[in-house]
Amino acid sequence: MECTVRMIADWMAEWADPSWAESYDNVGLLIGHEDAAVDTVVTALDVTEGAIAYAVREGAQMIVSHHPLLFRGAKTIVDGDRDGARLLMLIENHLAVCAAHTNMDAALGGTNDIAAEKLGLTDVIPIEPVPGDDSGAGMGRIGRLPAAMTVRQFAELVKEVFDIPSVRMISPDPDAVIQKTALCTGKGMGFYKAARMAGAEIYLTGDVTYHEAEEALATGAHIIDAGHFGTEFPIAEAIAQYLQQQDETLTVLPYREARDPFTVV
Ligand SMILES: [Zn+2]
Repeated sequence: MECTVRMIADWMAEWADPSWAESYDNVGLLIGHEDAAVDTVVTALDVTEGAIAYAVREGAQMIVSHHPLLFRGAKTIVDGDRDGARLLMLIENHLAVCAAHTNMDAALGGTNDIAAEKLGLTDVIPIEPVPGDDSGAGMGRIGRLPAAMTVRQFAELVKEVFDIPSVRMISPDPDAVIQKTALCTGKGMGFYKAARMAGAEIYLTGDVTYHEAEEALATGAHIIDAGHFGTEFPIAEAIAQYLQQQDETLTVLPYREARDPFTVV
């Protein structure tokens, strides 16, 4: 079967309903001729210069990313700024772009479900379900670890299952025993209070700020910040698997060379 840009964007919308995206977001097909044929697609967390170069090198016609390329309205497209340079690089190389962002965070099998699965959580429900939807889609997840463990052990588990060198721990007592776990991948402190109200004993997320950490610690919270990249990088692999299932003749290449911009030294 010959795939088109539109077909791939539609498959992504079937998985991660664009209406589930947060109001500030920009998801779906962002660049491309809808009827253009696609035989090779690259999946990536971010449409970085590296991801674009990889797509060009592999002869791809499309990039499916988690983070959208265009957040603000562009008034100019010039190579003097980063967005302009990337847009020119994409368009000059006939690369379409589709993004599934907060709608993918909400989706079954999306960023948050992948994280819950990596931790082995059971009885998983969203922190904030999609209104009027009882499929289990929604923002964040709450579930139970297979066994109770200390906060410190949980931090080690996170490093192991997400394959990351370090996490940041916010805890008044790292030897406290926890089991009911909530998480929100990426920048996820917005759902922390709801998770705690729902009885979560520990919270896993990324991008915790100093003031959020200071306030949470004062209320006795246990939080593990595994980084924005660390909690979301696995989505590129998951999108690739999903697209491959839609059409086995499609060449689907997850961009695995992406790196966390933060290095721990
Ligand atoms: Zn993110």
